[in-house]
Amino acid sequence: MKNENITNDILAAARHHYSEIICPQVDKWETCSEYPLAAAREAARSGLLGLYCPGEYGGQALSFEDAIPVFEELGKGEGLYAFSLSMHNIVTFAICSYGEKEFRSVWAEKLISGESLGGFVLTEAQSGSDAAKVHTRAVINDDGSYTINGSKAWVSLAGIADIYLVVVNTSEQAGKDDIAMIAVPKDAEGVSFGEPYEKLVSPFLPIADMFLDSVTVPGSNLIFPPGKGLSGSLMAIDIARTCISAGCCGLISSSLDLALTYARDRQMFGKAELELQGIQWMLADVATDLEASRLLYKHAAKYLGTPEGTVAAAHAKRFAPDAAQNAAATCMQVLGGAGLLVPSAIERNYRIAPVMKMVDGTTEIQRVVIARSLQQYAATLPPIPEQECQ
Ligand SMILES: Cc1cc2nc3c(=O)[nH]c(=O)nc-3n(C[C@H](O)[C@H](O)[C@H](O)COP(=O)(O)OP(=O)(O)OC[C@H]3O[C@@H](n4cnc5c(N)ncnc54)[C@H](O)[C@@H]3O)c2cc1C
Repeated sequence: MKNENITNDILAAARHHYSEIICPQVDKWETCSEYPLAAAREAARSGLLGLYCPGEYGGQALSFEDAIPVFEELGKGEGLYAFSLSMHNIVTFAICSYGEKEFRSVWAEKLISGESLGGFVLTEAQSGSDAAKVHTRAVINDDGSYTINGSKAWVSLAGIADIYLVVVNTSEQAGKDDIAMIAVPKDAEGVSFGEPYEKLVSPFLPIADMFLDSVTVPGSNLIFPPGKGLSGSLMAIDIARTCISAGCCGLISSSLDLALTYARDRQMFGKAELELQGIQWMLADVATDLEASRLLYKHAAKYLGTPEGTVAAAHAKRFAPDAAQNAAATCMQVLGGAGLLVPSAIERNYRIAPVMKMVDGTTEIQRVVIARSLQQYAATLPPIPEQECQ
């Protein structure tokens, strides 16, 4: 049964984390290359790191529908910091829900308490959108342990996270029936990371290659067995897409608040800028996009884990990042030259919004997912009666 009090408390905690932890520090994060571990640990103390996990490990046991609005609040502050906590929550959920008891008992509490962080490792240099083409190879040893060889790309929280859910292939052929997901601790022998990528946004979030050189882990580290690794990854990605869409709503809403405040206070031609109808219409469109994005992600959050979840998440992820990018550009325009000054939430949102169109499946891949479901639906439609074709 839904517990309104816990849901309200968690949303209040997320708002507090945004206003009291992210806002005062975010400009500093932009100028350094260190992940704000203290902030993530503070998020854990506020209950934000075990959102979907059971109470026995210290989690909040919230449904996706109740939990995912947290990322709208965090996304108001810094979209990629919100993304990192969202990824951690998904990893923690996967371990609590699918990890073996022995493994869970070691990691669940550490992850929920923020003592450890988790990363999700799917992408390879040769395969981003084509996610089923996994070349990283795991061999099952006689004692049930796994030995992994290969390299991964675009690993967020590289070297910062303590445990990584690595998607591997267990056969020579790249085929979805042999894909598995195995948890690899950072300190396992043979694990190393490349230099963090230099990027346009969020220098504090390390993203790098990960190398696995004959890394052996016990059989109890298996999260999804061969044949279930791809579907498990796609389920994680559906949750991630919904969280990113929620984060985009935060980004739109912080851009809009700033533009509204500026236009309310900026005098021109004898009145406030916000009195100009042209400006009002620009901001009205941003507000409509915010409403639409919010409805889409909340709808997706409700259906995650059901047959409708994947397409619902794709609709949200197709729409919300585009809306966030338009909102950041429009709100920047409302501020005139002031919108270009750094540091400011507007210019940060302007740089972060395009990243939301790429991570966890690009906008184009969402169209592929949606179009596939349209094709299936089209196959069920009766032929058009002949006279209507003429
Ligand atoms: C900030 C950031 C953090 C990330 N963190 C992680 C992480 O922690 N773990 C992880 O595993 N991965 C991570 N990724 C990787 C991310 O999921 C991939 O970047 C994404 O899946 C796209 O893959 P790609 O970059 O290789 O693009 P590509 O697959 O090379 O695509 C290039 C272009 O082709 C388009 N395209 C591809 N296929 C089609 C098609 N069928 N039809 C039309 N257009 C198409 C794409 O939309 C894109 O515009 C991260 C990425 C970013 C940007």
